[in-house]
Amino acid sequence: MKTGSGGRSGKRFVVVGGGVTGCVLAERIKQRHPDSAVTLLEGSSTLGGLSVRSEPDPIGWDRFYHVVTPQDVMLIDWLRRLGVDDRLRWRGAHTGFYADETLHRFDTPLDFLRFPPLNLVDKGRLGASILYASRISDGTPLWNITASDWLRKISGDTVYRKFWEPLLRAKLGSAHQDVAATFIWSTIRRLYATRQAEGRREAFGYISGGYAPVFTAAEHYLSRLGVTVRKSAPVEHISDGPDGSTRIRTRDGSELLADRVVYTGPSRFLPKLCQEMSVPESLLTRAHQLRYLGVLCMVVKLTRAFCPYYVLNLTDPGLPFTGVIGLTTLVDPVETGGHHLVYLPRYLPDDDADFDKPDEAFVEPFLSALERIGSRRGFRRDEILLTKVFRSRFVSPIAVLGYDKLRLPIPLVPSRLYLLNTGRILGGTLNNSQMIEEAERGLDEILA
Ligand SMILES: Cc1cc2nc3c(=O)[nH]c(=O)nc-3n(C[C@H](O)[C@H](O)[C@H](O)COP(=O)(O)OP(=O)(O)OC[C@H]3O[C@@H](n4cnc5c(N)ncnc54)[C@H](O)[C@@H]3O)c2cc1C
Repeated sequence: MKTGSGGRSGKRFVVVGGGVTGCVLAERIKQRHPDSAVTLLEGSSTLGGLSVRSEPDPIGWDRFYHVVTPQDVMLIDWLRRLGVDDRLRWRGAHTGFYADETLHRFDTPLDFLRFPPLNLVDKGRLGASILYASRISDGTPLWNITASDWLRKISGDTVYRKFWEPLLRAKLGSAHQDVAATFIWSTIRRLYATRQAEGRREAFGYISGGYAPVFTAAEHYLSRLGVTVRKSAPVEHISDGPDGSTRIRTRDGSELLADRVVYTGPSRFLPKLCQEMSVPESLLTRAHQLRYLGVLCMVVKLTRAFCPYYVLNLTDPGLPFTGVIGLTTLVDPVETGGHHLVYLPRYLPDDDADFDKPDEAFVEPFLSALERIGSRRGFRRDEILLTKVFRSRFVSPIAVLGYDKLRLPIPLVPSRLYLLNTGRILGGTLNNSQMIEEAERGLDEILA
C-alpha cells in the first residue's frame, strides 16, 4: 500500500519516533510550515519513548523514573503548551549514600561535613573541586581527558575512589572508565544549579500521573495542530524515492513519500534502516561504531517506604545495581495506590552480556542486595508486592573521549534526511528538557 502525505503546496515532513523529541519536532515543524503535511510515526502502541508508562502491568507508573527540576524550563514550557503544567508538583527530595553498610544523608553542607567515608582534608578537596568545576564555563578541553583522570587530578585518589567513582558507576556502570570529563563537569554544573535553587527546598518535581497523561495530551495537541500521528508504525526502511523524495516503509508494508524525514531513534539502527539510501558511508560507519549506554531497571512495589532518599548512591561496586531510586519519596504514594516504588537501575554498555539474560536472572541478586541495604532499617521480603524488569539497550551514546568530534551531524542527506536524537547531547545527563532544547536548536538546520 502506498499513501501520499498531503497536497503538494507545502512540503511533506515525516518525523520518525514519538518520544518527547519527535513530538516537539512535529509540533514546531507544523507551526513553522502550516501548509505542510507533517506525519509522526511511532513504532510502539503509545507515544512517549523512554518516558512511557509501564503498561499493562500493574506497576502503575513510568517504566523509568523521572524527576523535574526548576532548570527544566523547556520541558515546563512544553507542558504549558500541552495544557498539563498544572500537573507539576514541587517537593523537596533527599539524597543519601550507602557506604560501610550504613545509609548516610547527603543533602546539606552539614551532612557533607559529617559524611564518614571522607576525612576533613578529603572533604576540603572535594568541596574545592566541586566549586572549581562549577566555575568552568567552557568544557571543550575536557573532551580530551577521561572523567576518572580529571577527577583524580582535581580531587585526589582517595576522594575519587570513595566519592566520584561510585557516582560515575551509578550513572554509567562499567562504561564509567571510558567517559570524557565533560560528562561529569556538566553534571556538576546542573546539580550545582539545582542546589543553588534549593534555598526554596522545592527543587525537585514530578508530574502527577507520570508521563502517561503528558503523551495523551501531546497526541491530542498534535492532532489539533494538524499533525498526522500514527502509532504501531515501526519504520523498517528509508530509501531514495522518486523526484528527489524519500520513501519510508513501515513494518506492515505501508509506504510514505516525504520531502524531509527526521529520525529520532537510536543511531545504531541507521545502517540497517538506510541501507537502500544514499547516506554517506562514512556517517553510517560512525553510526555503527557508536557505543551506547543502556539500562536494566527493576521496579519493586512495596507495602512501605524503603528509605527516605530519592537517590541513594552506592559505594559498594559488588552490588548488582548502580543506585536506589526511592520514587515515592518524591511522588505522593497516593498516586501509586498507596504503595511505594523503588527503582533499581543498572547502567551498562550496549554490548554487555547481561542484556541477553532473561528478567528472572536479576530477581534474586537484586532482591538480596536490597535486603542487605535495608537490613538496618528492618526491611523484609514480605514487604514486596511485585517486581518488574524494564530494559533499554540503546539509551544514548557514551560520551567517550573526543565524542564531540564523533557526534553525527543533523543533516545525513541534506534537504532529505535528518537525525535528531539523544546523541546530540554533548556531555551531561540525558533528560527531556535537554532533548526539547536540542530539538528547538536543530530546527533551523532541518528546515533550511
Ligand atoms: C533510566 C532513565 C531515567 C531517566 N530519568 C529522567 C529524568 O529524571 N528526567 C528527564 O527529564 N528525563 C529522564 N530520562 C530521559 C527520558 O526518558 C528520555 O529518554 C529522553 O528525553 C529521550 O527522549 P527521546 O524522544 O529523544 O528518545 P526516546 O524516548 O528513546 O524516543 C524515541 C522514540 O522513537 C521510537 N522509534 C525508534 N525507532 C523507530 C522506528 N524505526 N520507527 C518508529 N519509531 C521508532 C521509539 O519507539 C521511541 O518512542 C530518563 C531515561 C532513562 C532511560
